[in-house]
Amino acid sequence: MTFSIHGLAVARGIAIGRVVLVASSRLDVAHYFIEPSQVTAEINRVRDGRDAVVAEIHRLQTSIAQMSPKDTPHELTALLDVHLMLLQDEELKLGVKHWIRDRLYNAEWALTSQLEVVARQFDEMEDEYLRERKADLEQITEKVLRAMRGVSSPIFQPQPRNSRKTTQQDLLLDDTVDVPLILVAHDLSPADMLQFKQSVFAGFITDVGGKTSHTAIVARSLDIPAVVGARWSSQLMRQDDWVIIDGDAGVVVVDPSPIILAEYGFKQRQGELERGRLTRLLHTPAVTMDGQKIELLANIEMPDDAASALAAGAVGVGLFRSEFLFMGRHGKLPNEDEQYKAYRRAVEGMQGLPVTIRTVDVGADKPLDETLRDDAHLNPALGLRAIRWSLADPAMFLTQLRAILRAAAHGQVHLLIPMLVHASEIRQTMALIDHARVQLDNRGVAYGPVKVGAMIEIPAAALTLKVFLKYFDFLSIGTNDLIQYTLAIDRADESVAHLYDPMHPAVLRLIAATIAEGHAQGKPVSVCGEMAGDVSLTKLLLGMGLRSFSMHPAQILVVKQEILRADTSKLVNWVEQVIADDEPVKKLAKPN
Ligand code: PEP
Ligand code: MG
Repeated sequence: MTFSIHGLAVARGIAIGRVVLVASSRLDVAHYFIEPSQVTAEINRVRDGRDAVVAEIHRLQTSIAQMSPKDTPHELTALLDVHLMLLQDEELKLGVKHWIRDRLYNAEWALTSQLEVVARQFDEMEDEYLRERKADLEQITEKVLRAMRGVSSPIFQPQPRNSRKTTQQDLLLDDTVDVPLILVAHDLSPADMLQFKQSVFAGFITDVGGKTSHTAIVARSLDIPAVVGARWSSQLMRQDDWVIIDGDAGVVVVDPSPIILAEYGFKQRQGELERGRLTRLLHTPAVTMDGQKIELLANIEMPDDAASALAAGAVGVGLFRSEFLFMGRHGKLPNEDEQYKAYRRAVEGMQGLPVTIRTVDVGADKPLDETLRDDAHLNPALGLRAIRWSLADPAMFLTQLRAILRAAAHGQVHLLIPMLVHASEIRQTMALIDHARVQLDNRGVAYGPVKVGAMIEIPAAALTLKVFLKYFDFLSIGTNDLIQYTLAIDRADESVAHLYDPMHPAVLRLIAATIAEGHAQGKPVSVCGEMAGDVSLTKLLLGMGLRSFSMHPAQILVVKQEILRADTSKLVNWVEQVIADDEPVKKLAKPN
């Protein structure tokens, strides 16, 4: 039966494919396709992992049998029996074989896919005792996965199958072709998301998450259709269901009828044609109709993203979110050399164009490691995040600063500091930058000059710009956080997503004033939050005087098209009116 789920549009375009349900806690298992010749080896890996767990349970049972009955709780013996029974479960075994043999999933992926199928059946059981056995099933699966880690795959070779374009005709005619896969999860962390950069998935759906959550931001950078905040998706969909993602409308259609499939297939092709047409603007300078030159920069997460920035025609990197180098490493931070190599790769990848490296911004919805999170009772968005975290650990911060300064010997580097608000933090930061230089001098290590900029992303910073303009060479407005902190709306919480409003007059006034004051002092100002890549806001920002936009590479050409159609001389008065209005503007009636 066809039904639709509404969520928040995150990354544009249409994706049509089969559902792969993944529980986020299990995302750190590899997902890749194997060759048909590797099927037997993968099935054997699962069997070996399972045998190892069975042997462990037998060992435990033997040692329990040697203990006195009063020392052995009856529950433990019963539990071990249940675990053994589950491990021998035919459905689990056959299901895993099916995913490996018929779908060519790697062993870990097959095991977790089958876990989802069986867990769903447990959920539907009437008997409470049986329903609770789901937790046992999850436990033994984790154990088997752990045992398999000791038997690592000899064949880890991710093969992005969705590089093969499957037409909608294929889908209608032949259900067995290599169809695109759509990942559906309750939640994904930014680190999980990053794992999928080279992945097999053609689209993402999550139950929770806001439009400018970092998970959504990474999804956008993958440039594949995605919807977040599509509540209950992971409950309502089943493994292997057909699904359509309409990333423009934020709608998910499950089990679509042939007519709906045909309609979305048409829309998908139209979208691809439109994107193709935009590439003709690749080498066109971004200049408005009245001759204003606009700088279009890229936001990147990893050094290798420099290639997509160049391919999209970016004239530099306006925001390298360095924290992604720090995530998912089980708390082990990258050392100076590791960081230096990564920054240098980004700098060299940009072939002489400037690269703005932001110092680490972890905390809030970007935990370093899921397992390290023990602050559920606190409000992490207001806590030890970004520069606060860096200043709390000067040795770690100095390591990063030295690595960035060293990378600056290889090209133009701008150093950007997130979440500053107090003058004392600014002074401490400046002192540490100087100290990092002294440390490199003492070691006789080469480094280059950097311009130092501040993110303006807390209202208090926007309202005390003078102190920022005194110390910094440039400003970059982080609208994602500026909106979050101005309106007191958690950007990662879909339940208040309707209140997260870039058009709120308070937000617009803070942005406009920052641009105006920066320019009045002769300091460059750019916007690197998601507003910069939102084509419906391009003219508004141009009218505020913005001349530097930093966004995901995938947005650059569509924003450039809007710039080419704009006449800033006609926008100024209109923008003044929009900002003066105390009612949040819902729809922009733009001139020209
Ligand atoms: C912002 O806050 O707008 C920004 C660009 O930084 P981040 O999204 O990484 O917090
Ligand atoms: Mg921010």
